[in-house]
Amino acid sequence: MTRGMIIKSSARLSSPLRLWPVLLILLLAALVPSACVIWFMNAAIENQQLAMRQRLTDLYLNELDQVRKRINEQLEGRVSELTRAARSKPSEAFSQIVYAEVAPSAIVMGRDNQIVYPTNAEPVALSDAFLEHRQHIEALEFSGKLSDAVAACDDAIKNTMDANEQAMLLLIQSRCLVKLTQYEKAMSILTQTLTEDRYAEAHDAMGRHIVSDAMLRAWTLSQTHAPDKANAIQKQLRNIVYSYSNTMPSSQRRFLMSELAMDHPVMIRLFEAEKLAEQVRQRHPVLKYVGQMYYSDQAQCWLLSGASGQVIGLFTKAHIEQFIASCLQDQIMLSQARCVAHTDDDRLSDVDARITVPASPLMPGWSISVYDQDQSMTPDGNRITAVYLWSAIAVIGFLAISTLALMTYVARSIRLTRLKNNLIATVTHELKTPLASMRLLVDTLRDDRMTDPAQAREYLDLIASENQRLTRLIDNFLAFSRMERNKNAFVFEPTDVTDVIQDAVACVKDRFKAPDCELSVEMDASLHEHRIEADRDALVTVLLNLLDNAWKYTDTPKQISVRGLAVNASVFIEVTDNGKGLTKREQARVFDRFYQVDQSLSRQVGGCGLGLSIVKFIVDAHDGNVSVKSTLGQGSTFTLQFPTDGGHLSPNSDELKDQGNEHV
Ligand code: ADP
Repeated sequence: MTRGMIIKSSARLSSPLRLWPVLLILLLAALVPSACVIWFMNAAIENQQLAMRQRLTDLYLNELDQVRKRINEQLEGRVSELTRAARSKPSEAFSQIVYAEVAPSAIVMGRDNQIVYPTNAEPVALSDAFLEHRQHIEALEFSGKLSDAVAACDDAIKNTMDANEQAMLLLIQSRCLVKLTQYEKAMSILTQTLTEDRYAEAHDAMGRHIVSDAMLRAWTLSQTHAPDKANAIQKQLRNIVYSYSNTMPSSQRRFLMSELAMDHPVMIRLFEAEKLAEQVRQRHPVLKYVGQMYYSDQAQCWLLSGASGQVIGLFTKAHIEQFIASCLQDQIMLSQARCVAHTDDDRLSDVDARITVPASPLMPGWSISVYDQDQSMTPDGNRITAVYLWSAIAVIGFLAISTLALMTYVARSIRLTRLKNNLIATVTHELKTPLASMRLLVDTLRDDRMTDPAQAREYLDLIASENQRLTRLIDNFLAFSRMERNKNAFVFEPTDVTDVIQDAVACVKDRFKAPDCELSVEMDASLHEHRIEADRDALVTVLLNLLDNAWKYTDTPKQISVRGLAVNASVFIEVTDNGKGLTKREQARVFDRFYQVDQSLSRQVGGCGLGLSIVKFIVDAHDGNVSVKSTLGQGSTFTLQFPTDGGHLSPNSDELKDQGNEHV
């Protein structure tokens, strides 16, 4: 009945102190604010990013305004250039526009809306007399009468005043001279006679510019017959081709350009411009707007006219993209983004642009889109985001650490309180039981009817045994209390382990003398020679606890042995019994405070779960080691190991296994 009461009171004490609900509350107390902090930081970062995006968009828009202004200014400037160029000759207007990079190419319109540049070769009308002469000369030439042909040319030249006809005759004459291998004379006609001013604008029957033709022939001739003059002639030919002041047809100019090496970017540009202009000329676009760029389906390029509408700049898509890109340069913010100039049909569809604005009122159909280079923010934005993130990490870290500390503290407090409750329950029970039986025995002894001295003696022995049990119990509680307060009141002095064993055995001798109990004590002869630094009384307590357990947890017939031996720099004390034994799991836990394998059995035999924890505490304080080896149902061996002569234990305490057997 008493036991029942105690168990109840212990349960009542420990129930409000369950660990997990308290820890759960603490965990929630940390998790909820942490989640709030994360949510708040997330929202703050998102807002921050939105604000930064808006700021960035404003900055982009601001810079785009400047870009659009620049595009307008440049286009207006180009329109004026195109207007001004209309005052020049068509071919010169073309070259001015291309040289000055007003437009990559141009066409020039005449008053009747006809294209006057680029020009086709116009056939030249020739006199009948000339045609007759030429027929006669060519007949002589092809019949091999070359000298006659040369002379006939001279005659024919004298008979005509027309520069075109004269120039054509000179060309035939030079050709015959070449056939006569009179190269010098031929060269002289081509490079000197034909370069006189009067032939500057001479054209042949097909409308070709004769001087250019003559210079090309001279250059070809010089390569084989006058190499020293070849370069000079080529230079002269180049000047004629690129001068644009002459009336050379465009087709002839393009041909000569392709014949001559283009070793300067301007030459390449002019050649490309000529090709584009010819392409457009063939499609003959209708002029729509003046002073504004527009796309001509016919020409398949963009056109920009001067105010008069006469000179029209031609732009390909690539040129316009390049032009807009040049206007985007030097913009600090835009240079960090990806800016794309595109027509309205050409917008990138894979990603959404952050901003799209029309490029300029003078360039309808063209827009500029700004795409984010990557999702990163500006350096400023990154810094603020980092501050938010680090603040969140710091707050959560602080919460986590303080919660962990609090949880540890609370868990420890709860465990301590539980220990105390258990202790009170155990103390109450363990003290009450021997006291009750002693009171009963004493009452019986005091009874006058007790006359048998043998029985009286037996009762006194029982009282002595209960007394001893009480003393052990109180010793253990005191030791535990010392342990709890961390007060090691040990007095260390060189100690002979045989004395310790003898003291302990003497204490239990009477009890172990029972008929169904056999106690054997073995001590190594050399054990005397080894001293350990120890508190003798404490070690006796250790040994008494082990012997007490061996007694308590062994059924009759009990076979208990104590063995003392010295191996290397250690002394060992083994307590072996043939009792209940322990499983591996139990062996691992028996040294824990208040651990009992079978609580009801322990109560029955008088245990409070402190004995082995006290053993471990004392052994540790002596730099020693305690271990257990046990087989369930067969018995257990508890081994104590202490270093001798102030030494330290080697981590391998299994040395006993190998060497100790020799001493048994
Ligand atoms: P108690 O005072 O309850 O005996 P101990 O700390 O001395 O507490 O022992 C802890 C538990 O270890 C015991 O309850 C018992 O179950 C087990 N134990 C201790 N020694 C032995 C042994 N020699 N044989 C079997 N079990 C033992």
